[in-house]
Amino acid sequence: MNTSLDQSPCRALRGVGPKLAALLAKRNIHTLQDILFHLPSRYLDRTHLTALSDLRAGDYVAIEGVIAHHRVSHGAKGSLTCELQDSRGYINLKFFHFNSEQIRHLNVGTKLRCFGEVRQSYQGLEIVHPEYLHLTPGKTLEIDDHLTPIYPSTEGVTQFQWRRLTDQVLALLAEGAILSDHLYTAQDRFSLPSLIEALHYVHRPPPDANREQLLAGIHPMQQRLALEELLAHHLGLMRLRASVQKTTAPVLSGSDTLSDAFLSQLSFALTSAQQRVLREIRTDIERPEPMLRLLQGDVGSGKTVVAALSLLQAVASGYQGALMAPTEILAEQHYLNLSKWLEPLGLKVAWLSGKVKAKARLQTLEEIKTGAAHIAVGTHALFQEAVQFNHLALLVIDEQHRFGVDQRLALKEKGAKAETHPHQLMMTATPIPRTLAMSVYAHLDHSIIDELPPGRKPIQTIVLPNDKRDKIMARVNEQCVSGKQAYWICPLIEDSEKLQCEAASRTYQQLSVQLPHLKCGLVHGALNVQDKAAIMHAFKKGEIDLLVATTVVEVGVDVPNASLMIIENAERMGLSQLHQLRGRVGRGSAESFCVLMYQAPLSDTAYERLNIMRTTENGFAIAEKDLELRGSGEFLGTRQTGIGQLRVASYTRDSALLPIVKELAQSLLNTDVSDALITRWLPDGLAYGQV
Ligand code: ADP
Ligand code: MG
Repeated sequence: MNTSLDQSPCRALRGVGPKLAALLAKRNIHTLQDILFHLPSRYLDRTHLTALSDLRAGDYVAIEGVIAHHRVSHGAKGSLTCELQDSRGYINLKFFHFNSEQIRHLNVGTKLRCFGEVRQSYQGLEIVHPEYLHLTPGKTLEIDDHLTPIYPSTEGVTQFQWRRLTDQVLALLAEGAILSDHLYTAQDRFSLPSLIEALHYVHRPPPDANREQLLAGIHPMQQRLALEELLAHHLGLMRLRASVQKTTAPVLSGSDTLSDAFLSQLSFALTSAQQRVLREIRTDIERPEPMLRLLQGDVGSGKTVVAALSLLQAVASGYQGALMAPTEILAEQHYLNLSKWLEPLGLKVAWLSGKVKAKARLQTLEEIKTGAAHIAVGTHALFQEAVQFNHLALLVIDEQHRFGVDQRLALKEKGAKAETHPHQLMMTATPIPRTLAMSVYAHLDHSIIDELPPGRKPIQTIVLPNDKRDKIMARVNEQCVSGKQAYWICPLIEDSEKLQCEAASRTYQQLSVQLPHLKCGLVHGALNVQDKAAIMHAFKKGEIDLLVATTVVEVGVDVPNASLMIIENAERMGLSQLHQLRGRVGRGSAESFCVLMYQAPLSDTAYERLNIMRTTENGFAIAEKDLELRGSGEFLGTRQTGIGQLRVASYTRDSALLPIVKELAQSLLNTDVSDALITRWLPDGLAYGQV
């Protein structure tokens, strides 16, 4: 049969009726090709049985044993617990959903083979809702000889159904159904397997497959698909860029009078990096197509001044500018800076956040609408429908990755008067290694401020074990008594914001007792915006000596008098996060310190990571090292990039593929192949404003 998989609807398969087809369509799975590219997201290893005495929490295992006890409890939350034993150990199997037939069949003496993930509970190890098979005495049951693919869950479609669907499509493929291999010509050059080979392999890994590679996602067959996926994303981003640049933007070529006045009242001169970046931005915004530029600059590198001068350029050309930040406190800081700088020049800076209410709000909205306000600064409140600009020409977004996709889209619409788009400048202090940035943000031009303003004192970083706490407290005391301020950052508790807040509250209470003459403050994620802002204000005004905080301490918060930072359990944090936190100190004239506390013993890697923090202050160098050590940098989760989930590829793990991706993308741009790859891998598309 020579059907083309991208032309055949899912309904062509056995077992796909209107109901299943509708469920699939909901996930944008319409054709047999779509089914084939619904790739396993992971694998389970059912190829060997583990003895019950060797089980460890967290392992996914296949086990066998005999049911030795059986207990049904009928509480509010009924459960069926079976204790499974073999000659050397035991484990509990736990069911919260079960029927009377299961109660009968899972009786004492029954022999089972089970699969599932081992958990630690109060009663010892257990597996909740294991998959199980009955073993008949005298009959042997074969064990799987290949890894079991697990498909990304889709509402209403079970793993069993996914296996049946993919089985059928793989069979068609084996019989010669058509699927275009677009990287066919690149194959030899990069020693890649063919697409069809790779698809068969990742859907149904053969018994002799290298399990470690497959489980880690680095098998050559997976890499073949990862390359194609990264390529599709790259092409998608380029197409997005092209579509934006087809629209027009205001030409911002006004005179330099305003910026000259601004520069002459500034108490410092721009660094050469700031000047270079400004020239890059200037060149962009003088052209009638929207700028799409990402400005990276380490904490404290002076991005705000660059933003201010760019906004001035919009005003000097007769338009409005807007500056948005992801949190109230950051936005307010920008507002204070901009009004301090720009109001003496006779400009009106408007302030809009969720907190601005009633009359003041209406007035601000009016000023933005009539153009009386030259520049609007705010949080995502700027996105609201009620906000209408007179003529927005430049949008600056600080810490852009922290905004939701919808919000970015909404603001861009604000400038979309008569088919014009505002220019966009995205700013970030999160250092991203160069090759990665060029790929993840392939649709953006890149500017980097790679130089700190002169006169910054280096921050001395000290690494100490937790048991030196007394010594550290003495240091905090000494600093604060001498009129300086300090931060105390509490440990990161994976996955539980609640526990993290509780831990911070405890530390706050302890420190308040142990350092009674200091004024302590506490901020954590569970506080509401107002309370958080009130405490940050008090800290900024010097009314608080020691600020105990979880990792929520805002990026960009500027308290120059704070010169000491203590970070507990630093070994649990990512290097980029440590770097961001450390950037809160070293902003004033005093010598600054950062103490990284850790829980001994440290692994070699953990030691090396903390050592990097001790020996370097350069955010980019830290990010590169982090990538090297961890293989996946935490600075680049999909959450941060805003780019939809990748199926098989990972920007960090597969970063070695990126130069190839770039090269292939150059040659494929604007070809049919490009369209075909985008349709195959990005059926949902990439909308402007989405990235
Ligand atoms: P970030 O890039 O982290 O947003 P900021 O814009 O907040 O950095 O700048 C950090 C501090 O450095 C601010 O107090 C700012 O006024 C100051 N600054 C910026 N540029 C210079 C410069 N060229 N020389 C001296 N100080 C500067
Ligand atoms: Mg900043």
